[in-house]
Amino acid sequence: MSEQHILIIEDEAAIREMLLMPLNKAGFIVEQAANVREAQTLIFNRLPKLILLDWMLPGTSGLEFAYQLKKDTQTKEVPIIMLTAKGEEGDKIRGLEVGADDYVTKPFSPRELIARIKAVLRRTTKQTLTEHITVQELSLDPKEYRVLVQNKEVIMGPTEFRLLHFFMQHPERVYTRNQVLDQVWGNNVYIEERTVDVHIRRLRKALSPYGYDYLVQTVRGVGYRFSVRE
Ligand code: CA
Repeated sequence: MSEQHILIIEDEAAIREMLLMPLNKAGFIVEQAANVREAQTLIFNRLPKLILLDWMLPGTSGLEFAYQLKKDTQTKEVPIIMLTAKGEEGDKIRGLEVGADDYVTKPFSPRELIARIKAVLRRTTKQTLTEHITVQELSLDPKEYRVLVQNKEVIMGPTEFRLLHFFMQHPERVYTRNQVLDQVWGNNVYIEERTVDVHIRRLRKALSPYGYDYLVQTVRGVGYRFSVRE
């Protein structure tokens, strides 16, 4: 796998062109495909480090292709950022649920996209589950099962702890309620999505005396994101 090799799958040549130079400048090697068939050949020849995938493609849609990529053992580890049209909240949710790692809404600036690419690449570099995680002054110790801010323990329930642990391992990425349920509670069909909201509220309450409740952000119409950006 090439270190910084990115594949853009987008039928609009103007968008591919717009991205080419800024991505090169940021140190990425870029390959381009105008449709899924072209992309499959390129992926077969060389597995990219990350895929930028347009939602609206002629023939096989971006969503369908994301689903195929995430099912295939050869390609399932390759992060995908979906390029979606404005205001299609339902699309974002479906994109995330088939396994896309993030999305950007058109029109976007190359700079914004590059920031997202870097965040996704950082996040998808594997961490061990017992590793101590620190975000600003907030630190979580999975072994001791404790959350600290400047050596003071932040008191929270076990579910809030698991929720925070999950979020801290996956910063800057939006998750739907359903995904949070799967990741934090496991595939328990008897738990309703609004349970997530309840525990999110408790987690924020636990963090708020330290001013860190802002890290747990609501993304309207989609779900939640753990982010240091206000
Ligand atoms: Ca398109």
